[in-house]
Amino acid sequence: MQIPQPDERRKNLIGGEWRPPSTGQHEPCVNPADTRDVLGLWPKSGVEDAKAAVDAAAKAFPDWSQTPGPERGRILGRAHQILKSKIDLLSEALCREEGKTLSESRGEVMKGLNLLEFYSGEGLRTHGKTIPSETRQSLTMTLRQPVGPVTLITPWNFPFAIPVWKTAPALVAGCTVVLKPASLTPVCTHLLAEALMESGLPAGVLNVVTGPGGAVGNALVDDPRIRAVSFTGSNAVGLKLYERAARRGIKVTCEMGGKNPVIVLDDADVELAAAGILQGAFGSTGQRCTATSRVVVTPRIASKLTEALVAGARSLKVGDGRKPGVQMGPAVDESQLETDLDAISQARAEGARLLCGGERLSGPEHDRGFFVAPTVFDDVKPGTKLAREEVFGPVLAVQRARDVEEAIRLANDVEYGLTASIYTSDYFAAMRFVERAEVGMVHVNQPTVGGEAQLPFGGIKATGVGEKEMAEEGANFFTYLKTVFLDYTGARRTTNIY
Ligand code: NAP
Repeated sequence: MQIPQPDERRKNLIGGEWRPPSTGQHEPCVNPADTRDVLGLWPKSGVEDAKAAVDAAAKAFPDWSQTPGPERGRILGRAHQILKSKIDLLSEALCREEGKTLSESRGEVMKGLNLLEFYSGEGLRTHGKTIPSETRQSLTMTLRQPVGPVTLITPWNFPFAIPVWKTAPALVAGCTVVLKPASLTPVCTHLLAEALMESGLPAGVLNVVTGPGGAVGNALVDDPRIRAVSFTGSNAVGLKLYERAARRGIKVTCEMGGKNPVIVLDDADVELAAAGILQGAFGSTGQRCTATSRVVVTPRIASKLTEALVAGARSLKVGDGRKPGVQMGPAVDESQLETDLDAISQARAEGARLLCGGERLSGPEHDRGFFVAPTVFDDVKPGTKLAREEVFGPVLAVQRARDVEEAIRLANDVEYGLTASIYTSDYFAAMRFVERAEVGMVHVNQPTVGGEAQLPFGGIKATGVGEKEMAEEGANFFTYLKTVFLDYTGARRTTNIY
């Protein structure tokens, strides 16, 4: 297992073989912190490759779905061991393909490993229930059975953890997989696939195709043999994909954008709140679906909090995540950099008050990458773009609220519903918020970010449709629940059957 050399032509994994793309085309994977650093040339596959991958997944399904769950789980367990011995290599690959700092990359790798470990155990636990019947001498129960071959489509911002959190539950549930990673970040997906193949995964059970979402993605959603799609990415793509999949009546999970608020009440510990907000807003360059993008603050603590946020944001060292001391990396590419800068100029035009940042960084440390200064705006009015739309960059919006009631109303005043947090020492206010926050995940006196393998992850409202991911729920998505009625009277029975 190695990080690809700049001129290395990678292949797709189809039916247990590494095959060149039918198009003959490749595109480079470039480090966004230093565009001279190229991590190989990646297949720009087409519809034919997508079809070949589905052929392989369909062929492998009957045998894999019959393989005992514990045996499927053990393969994941072996992949966990292999990848655990490669933490440094994986962290470096992740840092270079996506741009997050080495320590953030390591954190993501550890999270992916936890997920693999968790799902290796799920092979022993994918079970239904026995449920009492109305009828004597009847056994009634449910069985969980794999839905069939599935398509998994992943975004660039968690290039290791998200492919793991979709692939591991699908495999352990007995599904065969076609996985399409984001074109910008294919490297960690290939390292994961190599480890799974080395662990004894049979040919065709996992297939990996890289290439443009439009052509390859659509083909992988529309193929009638695909029985479920799990997608993480933007709302623009996710909602269209949901529509396509719905036409065929298949299961779909789409985890999409967020505009996650932190409420800070007058009685909060201001240092704790500022530290959590800075971590949530600028960690991973704000390129996390769970990033803190709004702060809603009540009057008496507002100036202390904004002072602490500005001081913290200004002190962050921004640069190439491989270098010691760097705390924030670049935007993932030029297009995301432009999105960040556009959001900043729009916020200015809409009357928000810029407290710090607001520009592209330049100079010898920054000229070869896509760096934006950590940015904080105050007095962001409800209804403006910065208050409502996801930026997916290091841009934080502060909004003022009169009291806890107005703060909760503002926090909920967006179409998204992924995660939210409140900082307060008032237990009653915290619980009111926990109950009323319109999100899939809520934190108290903690940043908005984070998730654990054994806890369900996902959003509501415009953020998410379908089953939660991770945890037991993540594997359940890849199964059908079958209800079984068994009669053991041994006699012909005509009564008591509803
Ligand atoms: P994106 O542009 O929607 O792309 C996501 C994936 O979909 C990529 O693999 C992309 O391929 C593929 N794709 C593009 N067009 C497609 C189509 N027509 N059919 C099928 N697949 C298609 O999102 P992104 O920019 O990579 O990721 C950022 C977004 O992800 C943000 O909105 C963020 O909030 C969201 N996100 C959400 C969560 C969550 O759990 N809620 C977690 C992480 C990220 P290409 O790369 O080839 O375009």
